[in-house]
Amino acid sequence: MALIEVQNLKKYFPVKQGPIDVLLRKPRKFVKAVDGVNFQIDEGKSLGLVGESGSGKTTTGRVILRLEEPTDGKIIFDGRDITKLSKEEMRKLRKEMQIIFQDPMASLNPYMRVGKAIEHALEIHGIGDRSSRKEMVFEMLRRVNLEPAEDIYRRYPRELSGGQRQRVVIARALILKPRLVVADEAVAMLDVSVRSQLLRLLQDLRKEFNLTMLFITHDLATTKYVCDEIAVMYLGKIVEVGDFEDIYLNPKHPYTQALISAVPEPSLKKKKKFIPEGETPNPIDVPSGCRFHPRCPYRMDICMKEEPQLKVVEENHKVACHLYN
Ligand code: SF4
Repeated sequence: MALIEVQNLKKYFPVKQGPIDVLLRKPRKFVKAVDGVNFQIDEGKSLGLVGESGSGKTTTGRVILRLEEPTDGKIIFDGRDITKLSKEEMRKLRKEMQIIFQDPMASLNPYMRVGKAIEHALEIHGIGDRSSRKEMVFEMLRRVNLEPAEDIYRRYPRELSGGQRQRVVIARALILKPRLVVADEAVAMLDVSVRSQLLRLLQDLRKEFNLTMLFITHDLATTKYVCDEIAVMYLGKIVEVGDFEDIYLNPKHPYTQALISAVPEPSLKKKKKFIPEGETPNPIDVPSGCRFHPRCPYRMDICMKEEPQLKVVEENHKVACHLYN
């Protein structure tokens, strides 16, 4: 059963107009960061949301948690439409929906000991008393392999390595026993060796806590550690979604094929390699028809006129591309 489902989710940001634009009454333009996204994640499963920077994946994660207000569409959490919940109602629900950001230094208070920062999360949600909270923090620090926990508890973020800080952020998110975690480029700033340790830890914790996860990344290679399914985003739209293995071993959309061909994985060597032509278009003026057409080596006439819709190509595998009509 789906724990989280988004239906036709949209988030448009208005582009600032200059005085001349206002004088000439030019129509307002929008960055369509998320433009009609649909997906669901079953309880205990993990979906990798993959795409280049500017594809809208981070905005999607933020809108799901209502850190940004959606322009349109619905967010259903545990069968309940949370799209219009008040700030107070969302504050209560936030215990069940946590986010792990890319930069732990930016998400931790530099003047607060890390143990206190984790404890503070419990305090905000009225969990436990002072001594039980401290014990819970020690236990969670040990669970994310930060030991000796009593020593780590007293440290400031600057006294820890990047990998240790990200473990603190994970501990702070998981101590509330959330049901949904949005991991937004959670390992992107770490060295390769630390990155794989953190990915393994995330996968272990996901299983142990039966977490449902939206794993946002620009690096498709990292999804193989933690994702059951993958959704590929391009210019605000999902262009392909399906089981991890189907997408990884049998990508259908030319953009997904380009992403996969860039993964340095020996088992994928035989895949045809290509780099999309040109740069990602300006999200204010998205191309007509298929948004990928200016960069696609397989484009046809129809691609410039008609926007392809997500269609089932095999079980649990959908693609938005006219090649599969
Ligand atoms: Fe390429 Fe056309 Fe498919 Fe778009 S719809 S990805 S342009 S073939």
